[in-house]
Amino acid sequence: MKMQINGKAVEAIRGEFFDIINPATGELIDRVPRGTGDDVADAVEAASSAFGSWASTSPQQRAGVFYRAGEIIRQRKDSLAALITKEQGKPLIEARNEIEGFANVLEYYCGLAGSFHGDFIQIPQNGYAMTVKKPLGVCAAIIPWNMPALIMAWKIGPALISGNTLVLKPASNTPLTNLTLASILSEAGLPAGVLNVVTGPGELVGEALVSNHKVKKVSFTGESATGKRVAELAVSGKKRVTLELGGSDPMLVCDDADLESAVVGALRGRFYNCGQTCMAVKRLYVFESIAEEFIKKLEAAVWKLRVGNGIYENIDMGPLNNRRQWEYVKDLVAEIEEKDEGRIITGGKVPANSACNRGYFFEPTLIADVPRESRLLKEEVFGPVLPVVRVKDLDEAIEEANNSSYGLGASIWTKNLDRAISGCEQLDAGIIWINQHLKIAPEVPFGGVKESGIGRENGPYALSEYLDLKTIMLKT
Ligand code: NAD
Repeated sequence: MKMQINGKAVEAIRGEFFDIINPATGELIDRVPRGTGDDVADAVEAASSAFGSWASTSPQQRAGVFYRAGEIIRQRKDSLAALITKEQGKPLIEARNEIEGFANVLEYYCGLAGSFHGDFIQIPQNGYAMTVKKPLGVCAAIIPWNMPALIMAWKIGPALISGNTLVLKPASNTPLTNLTLASILSEAGLPAGVLNVVTGPGELVGEALVSNHKVKKVSFTGESATGKRVAELAVSGKKRVTLELGGSDPMLVCDDADLESAVVGALRGRFYNCGQTCMAVKRLYVFESIAEEFIKKLEAAVWKLRVGNGIYENIDMGPLNNRRQWEYVKDLVAEIEEKDEGRIITGGKVPANSACNRGYFFEPTLIADVPRESRLLKEEVFGPVLPVVRVKDLDEAIEEANNSSYGLGASIWTKNLDRAISGCEQLDAGIIWINQHLKIAPEVPFGGVKESGIGRENGPYALSEYLDLKTIMLKT
């Protein structure tokens, strides 16, 4: 596939490519151009030229493009889902959900078209003031490989509906979904230059994009360490920046929780997308009095997970997305075993199954009695490994949960309203779930605190991240 700049399919200026590999089989799926700083400059120029006319279309016209794109995407849902599965690894059922999610987000922003207007303010003895909202201009979006379609929608939805133009840099492992979705938007009538996609390495294409003086805003999703670098570049260029970064979400299970639903919540919360979700359950704190029963139930559920190539319908968990993640998870679990840091209850190794011997597979792994200082609790473990810690009560659970540099999400599982409210008040996180985890919706603001980021995506609030407020004062 080729890059998309100014409505055209473009090869890299230097003609170099990189391979896109199926993580379940190791097979080559496609090759995409290794973009350069010059490609970024071309894409920003195209976005800048397209800005004036796109900003002057009505929000309803922009919504028309999104509606048409949503229709085409739903018609092609199965082939788009198969493409995600091939390049990302997640099971088809999850890939279909993600494609649905992409269309849902665009359609949500259609509903907000026309809602972003300014205010009228009366000023005693001095007439009145008005505020008007204006799009910023060229925006940059840099995204990761774990949810390539959904995160693309979280950025292009609010950016384009509010009249901005955009240059998107996909992750190097999953650009095919982004390029295909961008071409569907063109097919739906998005004018040339409004959305441009440049593929290539983060240090080169990503940094060139963030540093370009015509880019007014950067929206970045990825690791916290990369986010720091992006923030430094963006701030030195006086650009707005939204950072959606890593997480290490705690799940707190109280002794009065509905254990059956908590087991389902932990299972889905941890092993969805092979554990590669920013808001996955990454640390499980269970009251001592129910810990043994809970672990037994969870163990039984984990054993039932079917691991394999997600392209087959009956699979619950696919491979990790790339070698780097796979090596990290394997080495970490080996280190935990070597240091005797916890009891491995299930998994802990690469599956012996021959269907899994060519991809980046790892067994769904449950580790109990993990010590407080373990790397499993300190780092963001982006893979199918769930550490379980026993706590004596809610105070201890909250203290341990907050003992993390991350603050994306957290969940508390209890039937007691006082406990639920206490958890919501005290947990340091951008989103707190009660008796669920991992659920999100286009209308709900999403983002983290601490190392997990700055700013929010989704909901009407996301629009304000892409609009400038101009104040006009009039003396009567
Ligand atoms: P990453 O930081 O390695 O890469 C993210 C993107 O940044 C990629 O497109 C990459 O090419 C680009 N990039 C890399 N170096 C760059 C640089 N110096 N300048 C500019 N761009 C650069 O992250 P990843 O491994 O692709 O994704 C996994 C991470 O994303 C996890 O930490 C996960 O928690 C996080 N994430 C967060 C959210 C959220 O909403 N908070 C959602 C999904 C994923």
